[in-house]
Amino acid sequence: MGSLPLDALQPLDPDTFAADSSAVVDFLAGYYRDVDKYPVRAADLEPGRLRRLLPEAAPEFGEPAERILADVRRDVLPGLTHWQSPSFFAYFPMNASAAGFAGEMLSVGLNVVPFMWVASPAAVELEAVVVDWMARLVGLPDRFLFSGSGGCGGGGGGGVLQGSTCEAVVCTLAAARDRALGRIGHEGIVKLVVYASDQTHATFQKGARLVGITPANFRVVPTAAASGYALTGAAVRAAVEGDVARGLVPLYLCATVGTTGIGAVDPVRELGEVARRHGMWLHVDAAYAGSAAICPEYQGYLDGAELADSVSMNPHKWFLTNMDCCCLWVASPAALTAALSTDPEYLKNAGGGKPQAAAGAGAIDYKDWQISLSRRFRAMKLWFVLRRYGAAGMRAHIRRHVAMAEWFERAVSADERFEVVAKRRFSLVCFRLRGGGGGGDAMNRELLAAVNASGRAFMTHFVVEGKFVIRLAVDGAMTEMRHVGDAWELVQRTAEQLLQRR
Ligand SMILES: *Cc1c(COP(=O)(O)O)cnc(C)c1O
Repeated sequence: MGSLPLDALQPLDPDTFAADSSAVVDFLAGYYRDVDKYPVRAADLEPGRLRRLLPEAAPEFGEPAERILADVRRDVLPGLTHWQSPSFFAYFPMNASAAGFAGEMLSVGLNVVPFMWVASPAAVELEAVVVDWMARLVGLPDRFLFSGSGGCGGGGGGGVLQGSTCEAVVCTLAAARDRALGRIGHEGIVKLVVYASDQTHATFQKGARLVGITPANFRVVPTAAASGYALTGAAVRAAVEGDVARGLVPLYLCATVGTTGIGAVDPVRELGEVARRHGMWLHVDAAYAGSAAICPEYQGYLDGAELADSVSMNPHKWFLTNMDCCCLWVASPAALTAALSTDPEYLKNAGGGKPQAAAGAGAIDYKDWQISLSRRFRAMKLWFVLRRYGAAGMRAHIRRHVAMAEWFERAVSADERFEVVAKRRFSLVCFRLRGGGGGGDAMNRELLAAVNASGRAFMTHFVVEGKFVIRLAVDGAMTEMRHVGDAWELVQRTAEQLLQRR
């Protein structure tokens, strides 16, 4: 098939749609079949490679899908780091699944935009249902649900699906800021102080900057090995009391359940009590480990969540939901919408049809719960995953990964050349070759670089108390025990070669 004449362009012709989409599905099925044969990290790390391969300008006339897919295979795949490889253990893997893909396909194909209830009522209502389902699954208290145990409209709170924790954190910071400024006046913004630990995700600092917190008022509370690198109520209280004594206003405390670096868990209840005493907004960031809380054995980590103002987690990390999907729950939707709502004339006509008492029934204007106006129909994807695998299937998925991480942790502990650096709680193992001082760090850096250069596995690192540690995050959808076993063998063999050379 040659070029496509302009007058024949029918972008949504159902037959072409079916043909092109099936070609893509076949392409992806083949990719998933072969993905373990690719070097996990992009083999060709030379910058500018793709620009040299591709033409200077866009084609003047359209081309058939097959030709484009052939170029994806030839030019793009070799330059990708394969996040769906079963031997991808870096960062936190981003989950994909047949159900996540099917739901995403539906969402992308329907392409509705649920920014207000009337703009697509069932899409908005499905989102409200699905965030309530998720809240129940992870054991959140009723105050974060649209429908609490009291029945219709009983929860008082509610949730929204956003694209990332970064966005969710910015929204809650804005809500907390405006609530505080309503009390102390807008000039008081220079007095607002936010608190987090030295393990908190960097997104929090960025969010605080974005909402106008003075950089000098960003407190990084140090953590230590003795507390498992968790914040302690005492340390936060000391920092807060010092600030109050200097006339500053404590605004916001970020607690993390499962930190990115080493999987540390801040004590939510203890921190909630400090936050309550000082009128601070408490946010619980459970981006990665929140998924584990669907298993009763991990729900204890969210104990005290009734003292929080907001909680977030990313189903796209460990909940088989393709990018992107972040659940944000708030106890007071009014605090969120007070900071984020807009009411332009061009949207008013559309809002006219909303039933008065419909808010409790899910008639939500989600545009007022987030930064952007237009938004994706993410609920379809998460709903599809929950329906397709069920709570029991999802618990099995989490436990399977934890069991593999446990095996790796035991293997590392049994080899006296290595040490496990921080306590493993979920599916993240932090380890290193023993050996103190800067020499030890250099050796571990070399070990990680050699493991990744092999293309047989991909891991990343973190630095704890000045020590370089290697992170193995086991949560890829296709990862099986044999891949974790191979990764350990690769680490051992590479370490042997390194140690021999020294
Ligand atoms: C991954 C992660 C984030 C950032 O999530 P995004 O959705 O990429 O913004 C924040 N906090 C923790 C604990 C994380 O693990």
